[in-house]
Amino acid sequence: GLLPEGARIDRMLAEAHAHAARHHEGRVADYIPVLAAADPEAFGLCVVGVDGVRHEVGQTATRFSIQSISKAFVYALVVDHLGHGRVREVVGVNNTGLAFNSLIAIELHDGHPRNPMVNAGAIATTALMPGADPDAQWEAVREGLSRFAGRPLAVDDEVYRSESETNQRNRAIGQLVHSYGRIERRPADVVDVYTRQCALSVDTVDLAVMAATLADGGVNPVTGERVVSAEACRDTLAVLATSGLYETSGDWMFEIGLPGKSGVAGGLITVAPGKVGMASYAPRLDAAGNSVRGQIAAAYLSRVLGLNIFASA
Ligand code: GLN
Repeated sequence: GLLPEGARIDRMLAEAHAHAARHHEGRVADYIPVLAAADPEAFGLCVVGVDGVRHEVGQTATRFSIQSISKAFVYALVVDHLGHGRVREVVGVNNTGLAFNSLIAIELHDGHPRNPMVNAGAIATTALMPGADPDAQWEAVREGLSRFAGRPLAVDDEVYRSESETNQRNRAIGQLVHSYGRIERRPADVVDVYTRQCALSVDTVDLAVMAATLADGGVNPVTGERVVSAEACRDTLAVLATSGLYETSGDWMFEIGLPGKSGVAGGLITVAPGKVGMASYAPRLDAAGNSVRGQIAAAYLSRVLGLNIFASA
């Protein structure tokens, strides 16, 4: 089998949860005001195999906004739509070594965003979504991410409003990238679609199914639907490996040895290609904006399940 049989994997999940729950360091994000209201102790953990079998522990039904984890799936949709070369040219595949909302990173490379997991690159990626106008692009994002999750996703309006009122920095990033000719649509419209995509409401199970779809070469293992091509999926995982946890992607790769993606609401996905998708929700973040408990649980599970892609034994 792909995962240990039922009782054993449940025990491993419970141990990963208990181990990570002992950690109380980090801070809940508050630069988007409504996120500060999250329960700092909330903690859910879920794994879904590429056979669609699911195991979970803790608060896996608590809803939160997907935030930057959306970037991975929008990128997969855009690569599926435009192909390997074009997206690489526009958005890039290299780590910036700087914070996810850095403006310096944009200036350092003549407006090139460097990768699709920082805000500049994610906004440039959303601009490439198919659709004649912003509404059509938004619908393509919502519908595409819903196919990854296997259920219709909807925006958390409170999060969308809260971030829209306070996202001056992302608007500036959109304008700056546009000023270098790297966004062809109206940047304010693109940033609005991006803000909606970040406000999509999910729970830990949704994220685990989405991660499992990336593990399964683009086929949702629960619905059986092909969401993106195997090639788009592969390209997405490569980018997650270099940049999924921003400037601390090296630390992550060193400890976990798998592609992953974090979001500032506290979500985190980990993908073991061909095997399993894992997800966690725990809102306390480290200085780079990555869930503290999520990283600890992922490291634990990667180790006990033998998933590190660099381990030969
Ligand atoms: N919506 C958030 C932002 O653009 C996403 C950032 C994140 O999750 N790291 O700032």
